[in-house]
Amino acid sequence: MVFAHDTVVALQAAVALANSALEPDTLTTVDELTGFLDTWEYTGRRDGTAAELAEVRALRPALRELLLAERDPAAQLVNTMLADERAVPQLVRHGRHDWHIHAIAPDAALARRIVVETAMAMVDVIRTGETSRLGVCADDTCAGVVLDLSRNRSRRYCSAACGNRNAVAAYRARQRS
Ligand SMILES: [Zn+2]
Ligand SMILES: [Zn+2]
Repeated sequence: MVFAHDTVVALQAAVALANSALEPDTLTTVDELTGFLDTWEYTGRRDGTAAELAEVRALRPALRELLLAERDPAAQLVNTMLADERAVPQLVRHGRHDWHIHAIAPDAALARRIVVETAMAMVDVIRTGETSRLGVCADDTCAGVVLDLSRNRSRRYCSAACGNRNAVAAYRARQRS
């Protein structure tokens, strides 16, 4: 594994959140937000309100920008995010999760916690020189963010749907030639 478990989960969640903004938008209701939080096992405060949903939705362009940024600008974005939120890294242990880092209080607003968690995960990505593991989906018609955690850096598509669509297209192209 390239990164610590909490970093991996935070990156995967951030990618899923950024990609939820692609058409058709899959984060349009409080129920969909709850589903997202359950999928990624978010702990801490949840308001379950339209305001919270709006804050999380509004976050997505900034998350996408950070995830796709080159290394040096990404470092600047991370520093700004952590300073703005006055992040204080603390080792915590809760539930079945062994010692890992939280850098913002669990009762802070959800959108703020997502910003800090993503920024902390990007700290690992940047200092290990692994920003190339984040990129845009190789499907011509898709702008999805791809997180490639494979050992041989072979992941090119944001989703199984994009991968399958391109496998079928490549197969058809071979049949024609
Ligand atoms: Zn935790
Ligand atoms: Zn895609």
